[in-house]
Amino acid sequence: MARTQTARLMDGTGLARRTVEAASASADAIRRQTGSAPCLATVLVGEDPASVTYVRMKRARCEKAGIESRHVALPSSISTAGLVEAVTELSEDPEVHGILLQHPVGPHIDERAAFEAIAPEKDVDGVTMHSFAAMGFGLPGFVSCTPGGIMRLLDAYEVDLAGKHAVVVGRSAILGKPAGLLLLGRDATVTYCHSRTADLSSHLREADVLIAAVGRPRFVAGADIKPGAVVIDAGYNPGNVGDVDFESAAERAGLITPVPGGVGPMTIAVLLEQTVRAATHQLGLG
Ligand code: NAP
Repeated sequence: MARTQTARLMDGTGLARRTVEAASASADAIRRQTGSAPCLATVLVGEDPASVTYVRMKRARCEKAGIESRHVALPSSISTAGLVEAVTELSEDPEVHGILLQHPVGPHIDERAAFEAIAPEKDVDGVTMHSFAAMGFGLPGFVSCTPGGIMRLLDAYEVDLAGKHAVVVGRSAILGKPAGLLLLGRDATVTYCHSRTADLSSHLREADVLIAAVGRPRFVAGADIKPGAVVIDAGYNPGNVGDVDFESAAERAGLITPVPGGVGPMTIAVLLEQTVRAATHQLGLG
């Protein structure tokens, strides 16, 4: 029997394009006013192919948007102290406005120490304890880019979060946990699920807003989606497959993000937007 998709698609590609266009216009204004462009420094440890691709993609998007990028490539043998020193140098360099340390950085490195070497005003990827605490307190600051992109999508589609039951599957520091805190900050009632959650289906079925951030292809089945729910698939697995079984979920959801073309493009868009905002503040323009 032919399947019927009832859900409206949330177009992350279009929203990301508009977000980047706005960031690009601001970058252009900064260049005209100050003679220099916003600059994002990318730091890559080793040559992990996925990380190399991510960094290359982020730098290419920067260039296209009129944001300079400076790349620091470090050998996988670098020590925690060496990496902290490299990041500290960028934190102290007035020509660098944002810093992105691509992770994972390698098991022998104290990743937290490296992240904390990023000056809070340059933490455009939202990875420091300072940024996380500001987000938790509901204060201005830089948010982790993927959860930030998710919130932008929810706002663009005028999803009313107050009093809604949001279920976040996944609790990583860069994705699930901050996504839940941002939803809580918008008055949703939030449930976190993770690998030790008992009877996951019963939680999923209660979700008015479901955020899938698990890292397992097609993990969330359509049968577990509450009819009319908003389904955000943050997953990105090999073969361009999300964490939600799109076909079956789209038969029950009210709104749903596709993979690709949903959350993914918004992540980079928020990174560029936050880089321009960092430059604006550091150059005393706003
Ligand atoms: P992660 O650090 O591996 O975290 C995965 C989370 O899923 C963990 O909290 C884990 O629980 C939970 N989990 C694993 N198996 C589970 C199960 N059977 N039932 C319930 N929960 C389970 O991954 P991540 O970095 O957050 O990424 C998640 C996904 O988002 C991946 O597909 C990744 O590629 C994607 N992602 C996309 C973007 C983007 O730009 N679109 C950015 C970042 C990540 P425990 O905590 O108990 O282990």
